[in-house]
Amino acid sequence: MKQIILTGDRPTGRLHVGHYVGSLKERVALQNAGQYDEIYIMIADAQALTDNAEHPEKVRQNIMQVALDYLACGIDPDKSTIFIQSMIPELTELTFYYMNLVTLSRVQRNPTVKAEIRQRNFEASIPVGFLCYPISQAADITAFRATAVPAGEDQEPMLEQCREIVRRFNEVYGETLVEPQIVLPSNQACLRLPGIDGKAKMSKSLGNCIYLSDEPEEIKAKVMSMFTDPTHLRKDDPGHTEGNPVFIYLEAFSRPEHFAEFLPEYSGLEELKEHYRRGGLGDVTVKKFLNSVMQAELGHVRERRKLWEQRLPEVYEILKAGTEAARSAAANTLHDVRHAMQIDYFEHAGLLN
Ligand code: ATP
Ligand code: MG
Repeated sequence: MKQIILTGDRPTGRLHVGHYVGSLKERVALQNAGQYDEIYIMIADAQALTDNAEHPEKVRQNIMQVALDYLACGIDPDKSTIFIQSMIPELTELTFYYMNLVTLSRVQRNPTVKAEIRQRNFEASIPVGFLCYPISQAADITAFRATAVPAGEDQEPMLEQCREIVRRFNEVYGETLVEPQIVLPSNQACLRLPGIDGKAKMSKSLGNCIYLSDEPEEIKAKVMSMFTDPTHLRKDDPGHTEGNPVFIYLEAFSRPEHFAEFLPEYSGLEELKEHYRRGGLGDVTVKKFLNSVMQAELGHVRERRKLWEQRLPEVYEILKAGTEAARSAAANTLHDVRHAMQIDYFEHAGLLN
């Protein structure tokens, strides 16, 4: 069986460092390892519209921004197909058929969707499209016969829902679709990077992000303003490293060579944590170190982004060609789906037979 990746992001804003450690880095590594036959990376504008119906201009503006972020991180259009979701109507059609295979109580049980409904104050009036976006995500994944989906931990319920739909479809209509697996980052701190405000998840919609395109001064200001341990009031107080965003970011971003370069007094992260817990280590010292680490990690991404910003017509062509290629792959699957569902009426004069 072909090894295929499908993954993507909503164009609701520029991409942030949560995307970087949670999914983008893994995608680039998988792309460059060359073990996958096909890689599809989707800009999920139709999904973004499920909670931004009144703001189409926001979604439209962010399509190029997300594409720039991809290219900046090292997604290579010669190896990966970047495309725009709404330009592939086959995905919408597939969603419509899958809706019949899922119950309302099942979509209401999805814990990620539940949390997002609370965040968006949708409790009183949930757009039907928003409640059903996991079904459309199942359409996106299966349309490309994806076997692997590199994503953050919040996507686990979506993958579970997708596998249920695949199993149900194959049971009812015969073996047609492929069950995907999620590929989570191996580093625990990267599964769900918290926001700089200490909220459980850095998220475009929560405005608590460090963006890949942030200038060095913005990164520094954000790091220095980060939420830390509220009980660590004075430098000499003992502090908590567990659940402390600054230390979670260090887990996600720092490598031994960063200590040698920026904080040689410490042998590594364990020693730094130990000192913080004991007391006597100030937040400013830790934040300054985190800032140096993040500047080192993000500098080359920002530089590469700036180069692509000078070549927007080329980015446009990449998206156009990628979307065409993706559409033909999705149309192939749709052909098989219609056949399995016996709704290919005009194929070989089917209705007459
Ligand atoms: P929105 O607030 O519009 O939902 P988002 O910031 O949650 O935006 P998405 O486009 O929904 O971003 O997510 C794209 C991918 O990035 C998914 O695979 C998701 O798991 C991953 N991701 C998003 N935020 C984080 C995070 N804070 N930590 C780890 N992975 C993340
Ligand atoms: Mg999200």
